Amino acid sequence: MSDLDADLDLDVDLDMSLEISDLDMELAEISLVPDLRKCAILLDIDGTILDLAPSPQQVWVPPGLRRTLARLVDLTGGAVALVSGRSLADIDLIFSPLQLAAIGGHGAELRAVADAEPITRAGPLSAALKRKLASVTEIGPGILAENKGYSLAIHYRLAPDKEDEVRTAVAAIFAQAPPGSVEILPGKLVVQIKPARINKADSVSELMSFLPFADRNPIFIGDDITDEPVFGIISKFGGLGFSVGRVFADTNGHFDKPDSVRTWLARIAAQGLDTQGLGTQGAGTAE
Ligand SMILES: [Mg+2]
Repeated sequence: MSDLDADLDLDVDLDMSLEISDLDMELAEISLVPDLRKCAILLDIDGTILDLAPSPQQVWVPPGLRRTLARLVDLTGGAVALVSGRSLADIDLIFSPLQLAAIGGHGAELRAVADAEPITRAGPLSAALKRKLASVTEIGPGILAENKGYSLAIHYRLAPDKEDEVRTAVAAIFAQAPPGSVEILPGKLVVQIKPARINKADSVSELMSFLPFADRNPIFIGDDITDEPVFGIISKFGGLGFSVGRVFADTNGHFDKPDSVRTWLARIAAQGLDTQGLGTQGAGTAE
């Protein structure tokens, strides 16, 4: 058991005096067992619970993950939400037949209850702006435009040497947009343009005001720059933040890769099976 494992124990109303002393430590699988009757689980999708694929359409949801998420929904009374830049429609297709509470479009859409109508905070990006941005793909093969409805992403994962050209071209188009209307959102081998004043942190704060999330301690896991603002606000709700693959400020620990997150989620879901109803759930760490 690592020092990190020893320090993390989410029981007893979340001890926020957790001491994570060595951020340079090797990225470790986190063995923390939260009390699922008191917490909410908020998960970014791409690069967090799903492995990144050559293109966003090629991601794959392992059947075991669907089962784990469904089990966690039961154990938390529905307080499991996906928090993504993808639209809710896209999220629902990817995880079908499972439908979860979710924040989509980087916060443009919010659905606190799985089968409820979403609250919408922004309109889709204009078709004209999307077309202009998509023309950036002319730079070369391997540069892909992804229409996320509320935003448009230019991926250069398959052409990483074109990063400077892509970002310069996107910045030039951004400069022509009406001031204050849109924002550039850089990410891992991707750059996005989305409506201004929409972000995951504000939407997570709003989500936490709705049942079944209200009065629960959220655990948020994310992997990219778009998740950073959420790490900054999660402690306001007595919550914890964990990053994937790298260290971010304001996090309580780090997972090595999406598979480590899936393993951890499966473990806490199984822990629930072992202890639900016995009054011992959440006590101690898993190892
Ligand atoms: Mg991500």
